[in-house]
Amino acid sequence: MKKILLTTLLMTGGAYANMHLAPPDFDHSSGRAVFVDFKTAEYNITYDIDRELTTVKTRIVFESSNTGNPVFDLIPYPQSIKIDGRVSKQQEISFPGGLSRLRQLSAVVSPGTHILEMENEIYANVSFNNAFGVVSSAFWIRDLKDRMLLEQYIPSNFEFDQYQMTFNVKFKGVNEARQDFYTNGKVTKISPVDYKIEFPEYYTVSCPYFHLTPKGYMRRLDFTYPSISGKDIPVTVYSPWKSRTRKMKPIAIQVLKELEADYGAWGHPSLVAYGTMVGTGGMEHSGATATSLGALDHEMLHSYFAKGVMPANGNSGWIDEAIASWRDKGYQRNPSPGFGGSNLGEHSIYKRNTDDRAYSLGAAFMAYLDYRLQNLGGLKAFLKGYFQTYKHQVVTTQHLKNNIEFFSGINLDEEFNTYIWGFTTTDTERLIEKNPNHAPLTKEQLQSII
Ligand SMILES: [Zn+2]
Repeated sequence: MKKILLTTLLMTGGAYANMHLAPPDFDHSSGRAVFVDFKTAEYNITYDIDRELTTVKTRIVFESSNTGNPVFDLIPYPQSIKIDGRVSKQQEISFPGGLSRLRQLSAVVSPGTHILEMENEIYANVSFNNAFGVVSSAFWIRDLKDRMLLEQYIPSNFEFDQYQMTFNVKFKGVNEARQDFYTNGKVTKISPVDYKIEFPEYYTVSCPYFHLTPKGYMRRLDFTYPSISGKDIPVTVYSPWKSRTRKMKPIAIQVLKELEADYGAWGHPSLVAYGTMVGTGGMEHSGATATSLGALDHEMLHSYFAKGVMPANGNSGWIDEAIASWRDKGYQRNPSPGFGGSNLGEHSIYKRNTDDRAYSLGAAFMAYLDYRLQNLGGLKAFLKGYFQTYKHQVVTTQHLKNNIEFFSGINLDEEFNTYIWGFTTTDTERLIEKNPNHAPLTKEQLQSII
């Protein structure tokens, strides 16, 4: 199904009512699995420093369009589940085709607004230092692997959905929290041990950046960047090393200049960049990144494409890696994509992660589109308008194609049907390469950088 028309986005009612982008509901032996629209999610996260325990109490307000058993995801085991105040159970089930898993409530809901509550513990990427009464914790994410977005830590919806998230962070076992927060949300101190972090309502499950460290643990530089919008953008660069942090500042400024010149004003309230070890690549969030120095520019580009204009699902994830990789390679322009065909955007509708051939094949396809659009200022001219029009919105491959066709007047059916929605031909093999900007890290490596 590739018939999501340009006008669909304009005709939806609520600001971020994205149900038209949800995968189809499906029948399971345990009941009809229905995707729902999260409106708000409040996460009460408690770091119990004495017990070295991290717990979350969640309250989600969601809307269901259909009758059935709502689905969501969470890797840790959820407990004390309530739906509209009534106790419910859940179970982990497979998506049709078995390519990923998710959780389904035992309770059946009817169309309308509902409240879902549950509790869980967080185990990943958290480390207590009992002697000093401090904690390190990070909600790192990865999008090339399955189930590595916020569901690793807190109950979450799938990438199609945008909803307002709030973290109420509490520290138990200390009289005063001696912690630093690095985040792309708005931090408010409520008490010496209570903080509230509010994220913008356009965020999806791959947008929030949350890194908690002992106070003074990182070397940080705070400054403002005068955006072409006229606003001063608050920028924080930090790392464990003074020299690394110092190197990050001029790069961040230079890349902001370049990206604003190419695609327009920075689309987020701030920029937060964490410099990690050499060769570890990085991961992008909205106006934030944890990245090695060498990938900082690549990850900042993603604040435009990936976390500015955002992919609805695994089949749209190739778009932003293709654009970022096309930029990494110096914005090449080629009269041919140079490969026979691929199915970058034609996997199961339930696929959640990005096809990692996007770096090579996707970038080559962008170089070809740039050639086709050369009389109109090239692909960059299109992307600038695309970003300005659809920033903070969730898009699909079909949406991108419709808009390029509208911009250029060129019919691209054959091109997309061959190179994106086609069959992978053997001659594509020679183009496939691993991208250093998103090196796969082990669980131990991810833990080591908190
Ligand atoms: Zn990337």
